[in-house]
Amino acid sequence: MLVFGQPPSNVNEMLLDIDKATELTTLKHTVNAKLDNISSHIVNYREFEVNRVEESQQQVSDMQERMVELEEEAETLKKLVVEKNKQATFDALTGIPNRLFFEERSEHEFSRWKRFNTPLILAIWDIDFFKKVNDNYGHKAGDKVLKTVAGLINKRIRSTDFLARFGGEEFVMLLPGTKQEEALYFLNKLRLQVGQCGFRYQEEVVNVTVSCGISDFRENDSVESVFERADQALYKAKENGRNQCVVAE
Ligand code: GH3
Ligand code: MG
Ligand code: MG
Repeated sequence: MLVFGQPPSNVNEMLLDIDKATELTTLKHTVNAKLDNISSHIVNYREFEVNRVEESQQQVSDMQERMVELEEEAETLKKLVVEKNKQATFDALTGIPNRLFFEERSEHEFSRWKRFNTPLILAIWDIDFFKKVNDNYGHKAGDKVLKTVAGLINKRIRSTDFLARFGGEEFVMLLPGTKQEEALYFLNKLRLQVGQCGFRYQEEVVNVTVSCGISDFRENDSVESVFERADQALYKAKENGRNQCVVAE
């Protein structure tokens, strides 16, 4: 192969031949042969370079293809993560946030409440005599009641409020920036709306009511202590005859 920057050995040989030459015809032959040799080297080198460029271009195009594939894989994985995250934090039956999501959100709202000192309310809802719905109309009817109640309440709350299915037929709610009197008024309205929703299962009217325990966040509270107070208030609502909202003492 020719190496640029150095005189090709053929050229050196040719110069020597010219020096040594005594006869013009012989010299002409020798020079021609050497020139042929040089020109075939150049042809080979060009071919080699063309192949090298083609190979590089192929490599670049392979890499571009692989990059597109990787981008597609990353996009699929991103969608999968979003989907898995949704599955982990939303309740499959009602489509509203689940207990795990509530735990995250309550810690977040708790920090905000501590920092900004604006009122924060926690309320626990429980469907009254829900076991009877299952017993009298079947589990499917029970599921439909759960979906209806969750949907109805979720539709009416503010975008800053938060409703989660805590488990079974219990729901938990966070109302930031809401005072206790306002919360009681608003939640009682919601309770009445649930009671008047005219739920039907296979043409039969099923009476659905809910009870609610409400508590605000107070000095030295933790999410657990507020939850406990709201739960006690809910217990009172049940004890007093159900279908009512009770504010914690
Ligand atoms: P109370 O008024 O005192 O709350 O009575 P209750 O019957 O609502 O309460 P209880 O705790 O006795 O019954 C709750 C029932 O909720 C029992 C359980 O089978 C039912 N349940 C829990 N999760 C689901 C669910 O996902 N679907 C259905 N259909 N029923 C459920
Ligand atoms: Mg219950
Ligand atoms: Mg119940």
